[in-house]
Amino acid sequence: MPIYEYWCDSCRRIVSSYRHRFSVPPPPCPRCGSSELKRIFSTFSVQKTYSAVYEDILSDRELTQGMMRNDPRALAEWNKRMSGGERAAPEYEEMTERMEVGEWPVAQIEEKKQEFFGQRESSSESG
Ligand SMILES: [Zn+2]
Repeated sequence: MPIYEYWCDSCRRIVSSYRHRFSVPPPPCPRCGSSELKRIFSTFSVQKTYSAVYEDILSDRELTQGMMRNDPRALAEWNKRMSGGERAAPEYEEMTERMEVGEWPVAQIEEKKQEFFGQRESSSESG
C-alpha cells in the first residue's frame, strides 16, 4: 500500500500515512490534529528508513522553509532526497526537472494520478 507524505504547517513536520488512494482528503495531523496538511509529492516505492532522511531534510532550514512556501524547487529537492539518489521513473524525472526550475507540472501530475488510480475506477461487476 502506498505511503503518502504530508506537511503539517502547525507543527512544521512531515507526517506520513497509508492511504488507499489520492482522492481521499488528507488525514488530520497525528500530533496536533490540524487538518491543514499539505500533500507532498509522493514517492511510491521508497523503502528506506524515513527517519534518517527526515532528519536530514528537517535540518535543512532552507529546504523546509521552501516547502512551507509551496516552492516547487523545494519539493523537487525533497523528492530527490527521498529517492535516495536512485533514479526515478522517467516521468518523475521530468516532473522533478520542471519543479527544479520553479514550475508546477500540474497537468502531468494530474495525468499521472489518473493513470495510476484511474484503473481502479472501472467496475469489476460488469460482464
Ligand atoms: Zn501537526
